[in-house]
Amino acid sequence: MPFDYDLFVIGAGSGGAAGARTAAQYGIRVGVAEQEALGGTCLNRGCIPKKFIVYAADFALKNRMAHDYGWSGSKKHFSWLRFINSVHQQIKSIHESYQESLQKAGIEIFRGHAKFVDEHTIELNGRNITAERFLIAVGAQPIKPDIPGIEYAITYRQIFKLPHLPKRLAIIGGGYIEVEFASMMNAFGCEVTVIDTSETILSGFDHDIRRHVQDGLSNRGIRFIGNSSAKAIKFCEDNLLLTIAGDSQKIMTADSVLIATPRVPETKNLGLENAGVKLGEKQEILVDEYSCTTQENIYAVGDCTNRLQLTPVAKAQAKAFVKTVFGKQPQTVNYEYVPSAVFTRPEAASVGMSEEKAREKFGDSIECYQTKFQPLISQLTIKDEQALMKLVVEKDSAQVLGAHMVGEHAADIIQSLAVAIRKGITKQEIDDTIAIHPTTAEEFLRLH
Ligand SMILES: Cc1cc2nc3c(=O)[nH]c(=O)nc-3n(C[C@H](O)[C@H](O)[C@H](O)COP(=O)(O)OP(=O)(O)OC[C@H]3O[C@@H](n4cnc5c(N)ncnc54)[C@H](O)[C@@H]3O)c2cc1C
Repeated sequence: MPFDYDLFVIGAGSGGAAGARTAAQYGIRVGVAEQEALGGTCLNRGCIPKKFIVYAADFALKNRMAHDYGWSGSKKHFSWLRFINSVHQQIKSIHESYQESLQKAGIEIFRGHAKFVDEHTIELNGRNITAERFLIAVGAQPIKPDIPGIEYAITYRQIFKLPHLPKRLAIIGGGYIEVEFASMMNAFGCEVTVIDTSETILSGFDHDIRRHVQDGLSNRGIRFIGNSSAKAIKFCEDNLLLTIAGDSQKIMTADSVLIATPRVPETKNLGLENAGVKLGEKQEILVDEYSCTTQENIYAVGDCTNRLQLTPVAKAQAKAFVKTVFGKQPQTVNYEYVPSAVFTRPEAASVGMSEEKAREKFGDSIECYQTKFQPLISQLTIKDEQALMKLVVEKDSAQVLGAHMVGEHAADIIQSLAVAIRKGITKQEIDDTIAIHPTTAEEFLRLH
């Protein structure tokens, strides 16, 4: 019997939508199921609303600097509610264009929860749909630790819907998402405390970057409690009492407690066992380098495979899958030079190897070039705000293995450098490049 679709995609987030759109270009029959809003985490409760909040918070910081730049009488009132309503309004209009673009590409959209019946069939809203191939792109969800009173904590899903900003916010965890929220909420005037099980936040990033961001955020008034974890939350007279254990043993008071990570693959209740799709230890869908699962006609991309949980990675995996399967040109994703950013103030970004990773691989044959300086913008104002730039270089070949930065526009600067570093640029070639002056980026061209 012929299948209803050549490809059926489960989840219309970053990976699923990219996969469906690219596959439709091959003239095949594509269907997609989405149980919530089109656009998934990135559009509805991740990158996009978060970046709007970063911009809103920047006005607060810039307002504070404005006086030193000659402005006066510019005291402004911030309405969180008016702002967050505009964000949701904008997201709604993006939904409409999302839906239009999928439909224009000839993709059929189904609303509801899809579940496998067998390897060629899913059940959706009481109806069975068959497809020759499936792409699973169901993303990940935050899981809350199993501690008493955890029901009082919110996740990033709720923070975008808060009716007002908390006065005192406790954030459990020091990953990039938590730290970004710490930075934004601090800029709006919230009293923010970050509790992390490590001494320093942002595990996985270069150690100098981690330290520098933490110091920068501390200078702005964010409190860090390291080597500690949350043990219980109690609701008492309109306050939340958070019990902390570890290096720091105390009970702190907060209005809100935020938890954002770990984000665990959303693989429960998908009927994967009916389709022969196997999971790993962290509930992630096991895939090979072409994103093929343990069932040969079923592929999986994005956060549900727990490789690198980033939007451009999910999209790249989806496009590589389509090229491999429908374009008959096998394509894999190179994870070595995936740039990433932390949209805190100060901002941080990295591409390639951290110094630790490079030393693990190349031992003493690693040289690091680094500078700390006061960027021009803060010379008239925040006196202690330093930028940091660092290149990790392999001595014998002089190849740049990693670039790391903390400071204004770090994400954009590292994005441009990522192209050159991926292409194997040497330190000398960076030095020989003529700078744009005066910029922050030019400091990368004169590291000694
Ligand atoms: C607060 C936050 C900030 C972030 N910031 C950044 C950032 O700055 N840069 C960056 O690159 N990444 C960022 N990310 C990560 C990024 O959002 C994800 O990596 C990306 O969205 C993953 O895409 P995906 O397609 O795998 O999953 P998703 O985008 O989550 O899409 C999965 C979709 O599948 C749907 N679904 C699940 N199960 C079913 C089912 N059974 N049937 C039908 N539909 C189903 C879900 O409703 C969802 O819409 C952030 C994440 C968060 C939470």
